[in-house]
Amino acid sequence: MLKFVTLAVKVQLNVHDLNNETVAGNVTDIRVMEFLDENGTRREAPAVSGRMLKHWHYEGMRHLILNGLYTSVPLCAGCKVGEPIRPAEIKNGNLKQIAKPEEDAILSCVICDVHGYLIAREAEGESDRGISARRTSRAMFSWLMPVLGPETTSTQVIHTRVSQIRERGEGEQAAQMIFNKSYASGIYAFVSALDVDRIGLVELNLGSSNPYVINNNDRKNRIKVALEAYRYLISGQMGASLSHAIPHMNPIEVFVAYSEVGPLPFPVSPMYSDYLSKTVGLFPQHAKFLYWGQKTPEGVIKKEKISEIFDELLGKVEE
Ligand SMILES: [Zn+2]
Repeated sequence: MLKFVTLAVKVQLNVHDLNNETVAGNVTDIRVMEFLDENGTRREAPAVSGRMLKHWHYEGMRHLILNGLYTSVPLCAGCKVGEPIRPAEIKNGNLKQIAKPEEDAILSCVICDVHGYLIAREAEGESDRGISARRTSRAMFSWLMPVLGPETTSTQVIHTRVSQIRERGEGEQAAQMIFNKSYASGIYAFVSALDVDRIGLVELNLGSSNPYVINNNDRKNRIKVALEAYRYLISGQMGASLSHAIPHMNPIEVFVAYSEVGPLPFPVSPMYSDYLSKTVGLFPQHAKFLYWGQKTPEGVIKKEKISEIFDELLGKVEE
């Protein structure tokens, strides 16, 4: 049975939109990131936050469940509508975060299970001490960073729209709202890890005869959804403006390490030229390596199609 998966992905994305980072949980992220190249020289380029990648992995899972595949996998009310409030229920017509035992939160929602949550509710009145509860994410993501070496570009496009709302002190004139949108192009890398073994698991139950809250069959379906969602992420289903700016995506390399024994380290990032040999050199004996791309790395099973990597992982879930 599959226990841990890590991915290292290199893709070209032309004319993608990094602007509306606020979509993921009302967090505004910077668009341009500073980093060092392999010589230690400071560089700057557009990048996408790991929070954003995680959001789009979530969207991939949601999409798979709501559109007919894996219909038996449950979503809570918040995750069903794509809101970052979780775990949530509808109360009096409003979506509300609900403080509930971790077992119940896991049982009622795959996203709450796999992506975790943070409940921080302030005390209401003197007798109430408030609630604080969290579940750590089983899915982890790096930022999407430019691969060192190739060029990245970004172009800012200025859009204007005229608002009919008069601004205070602006007299009769309608305010003209100007907003900038950036579209960037480049070759990017990201790293992700999926702690498969802890999907459906409650840490407090460790040591008991069964630390899992859900049955084996349901666990397998949840793991499959979480794995399948990466396929959508790799295809460029990320970014805030898919309705009018689907990135022009071209996959370059997909490297997967998995284990049926225990947890794995994170792979060396494909933003570095020698990431494959370094990752293979770092990983423990129980890791198995799958690769799709132009290179023929040592100690790694090369696949003809990206889907063969997913087929192998999904097959390991069934074992
Ligand atoms: Zn949920």
